[in-house]
Amino acid sequence: IGTDEAALARTRTTCGYCGVGCALDVLTRDGRIAAVRPAKDGPVNRGHACVKGRFSHGFLRSPERLTEPLLRRGSDLEPVSWGEALDHIAHGLRAAIAEAGPDSVAAISSARATNEENYLIQKFMRVVVGTNNIDNCSRLCHSPSAAGLTAAFGLAGGTDTFDDVERADCLLVVGANPIEAHPVVGARLLQQVLHGARLVVADPRAIGLATHADVHLRPRPGTNVALFHGLAHVLLTEDMIDKEFLRHRAAGLPELAAVLDHYTPDRVAGLTGVPASDVVAAARLYGRAERPAIVYGLGVTEHLHGTDGVRALANLAILRGAVGTGRGFGVNPLRGQNNVQGASDMGALPDLLPGYGKVRDPVARGRAEQVWGARLPDHDGLRIPQMFAAAREGDLRVLWVIGEDVVTTDPDANRVIEALDACPLVISQELFLSETARHADVVLPVASWLEKDGTFVNFDRRFQRVRPALTPPGQARTDFAIVHALAVACGADLGCSTPAEALAECARVAPVFAGMSHERLDREGAIPWPCPDPGRPGLATLYHDRFATADGLAHLSARPYLPPGEIADDDYPLILITGRRWAHYNSGNMTRRSGVAELDPSERLDVHPADAAVLAVRDGDRVLVESRHGQATLPVRTTEEVTQGQLFCSFHFPSSGVNALTSSHADTVTSCPEYKVTAVRLRVRPDA
Ligand code: SF4
Repeated sequence: IGTDEAALARTRTTCGYCGVGCALDVLTRDGRIAAVRPAKDGPVNRGHACVKGRFSHGFLRSPERLTEPLLRRGSDLEPVSWGEALDHIAHGLRAAIAEAGPDSVAAISSARATNEENYLIQKFMRVVVGTNNIDNCSRLCHSPSAAGLTAAFGLAGGTDTFDDVERADCLLVVGANPIEAHPVVGARLLQQVLHGARLVVADPRAIGLATHADVHLRPRPGTNVALFHGLAHVLLTEDMIDKEFLRHRAAGLPELAAVLDHYTPDRVAGLTGVPASDVVAAARLYGRAERPAIVYGLGVTEHLHGTDGVRALANLAILRGAVGTGRGFGVNPLRGQNNVQGASDMGALPDLLPGYGKVRDPVARGRAEQVWGARLPDHDGLRIPQMFAAAREGDLRVLWVIGEDVVTTDPDANRVIEALDACPLVISQELFLSETARHADVVLPVASWLEKDGTFVNFDRRFQRVRPALTPPGQARTDFAIVHALAVACGADLGCSTPAEALAECARVAPVFAGMSHERLDREGAIPWPCPDPGRPGLATLYHDRFATADGLAHLSARPYLPPGEIADDDYPLILITGRRWAHYNSGNMTRRSGVAELDPSERLDVHPADAAVLAVRDGDRVLVESRHGQATLPVRTTEEVTQGQLFCSFHFPSSGVNALTSSHADTVTSCPEYKVTAVRLRVRPDA
């Protein structure tokens, strides 16, 4: 970058990859990035950043970057002006609403977009279109966290800050691979272990963190609830519970105790494959710690019974009185995408308004109606899987997909493509001509996270500022500007013409954000929510006096273990788990076009050596993977990171086609897909 860093323009912003929320100083010269420096005073990263935040910005200058709107004419997407593109969409919206009603329109908002953009998009759908058909990709990852944590404690976020977790003397890390997926958090967890904290890892794979664990539990995919009930059984039978806390601050113990009777360590061993002695050892580590903390990821949520899993995990913290007391650090989800927490906080959900007021609640709806000056629909809208189903059935006329490559990332990809092709007007707002954009009728070029103004919310509920270090290329616009312009094309006025005004308006709609503003964030730095008062700090650690449930109590869940949607059988004898790898991010549309892609250039299927031997395949051989839903061809990597009978693959490479394999099974409460359990079989390709 040359020697004189002080001569470069410096912009403080927040990383746009994972949900850790590292503060970064972006150094630019002549409209190009010269370097990215992790901010030493970053509240979460403290001078650290991972390979994605520091080096994955080459995509900005990719020649494949979209720079002008495209409109489908026949089989081709052709460049058009913004005016023509927006008029085409506005005409399509008006026609759909007139002929089939507002609920024939749906939008998928983006965890990559800022809070202010998500706020504006959901407002457009509710006020201009008149529907609650708005959802975001938390549906596909942490919607069970929102449902489970709300049911247990009252709010849809983690119970503590990561600073609290760092004071824990026992870490229970479940279904998360932070060293790869959240590297800065992974490093902080490891430091904690080096400083003496005990570590229990629960994950079917031998992830990096597990090599440092006192106990590594490797449950069969889909058996989490049985495992967590097994741990709770030991807490109860060995009297490692906080009776005072349970008496005064929790509800549901008799019902849970009756269920836990059935989850002896021996029975749990049979259900999960985890040795009974390990169940007991892990429970004793967690149960005897003075300050235990739970950190978890998508290995808990992406299941047929993901919400039950979150609640069964929360049971452990409640039984120990390790939440809302300072005697432990609760239950904390590692959110995957940079702003997946914020997209939900802003009300990009079919049943919830900004700040989590229910659309069916006249009080919450009335508050938004007063601020927005419009009558709002009072029935829940469609969730993402329901949108696709409605499109396939001919009930959806317009589908607006913002910053999501649903063909690559959503399950049962062949059915997603069917839905896009069946919908008369599909709009894709994207950086690149993604797999989803290829199926769209209108493609709108957008600004990236390094070209935007606004805020993100990270995994421990901190609002942080996002600032533009660069201007978008060509005619690309921010999502905020696009939504505004579309409202004008529809003859509407959304008000709040800047991101700062949008957050200020959101603070009037949602009491939990009432104290939040750009001006305050610029002055004070990161601020956690709930933040109901502009004169007081946000609440980093929750539930000191009471839980946010209606009765003020934490609620134990007595739901029993139920099996996953698919199990290995004679036809499909292996179980495929999907997840992330360290150098890439989700669909890979940004990281695959950045220099770091050379570190991890292609996808492979992780296969246990014993399973590879049965098929007589070696590293690099290509195998045909078949499920009940589709097939994919992948090169083999033999590794004992997976157990015999299990496979692992990421979804970063569209060419792998891995989501053609995954099923439409989804969490019974929230519709979060069961990415972690797909029954498959392998065949050697004849041409291998
Ligand atoms: Fe930090 Fe996550 Fe960005 Fe890496 S990807 S720099 S851990 S926010």
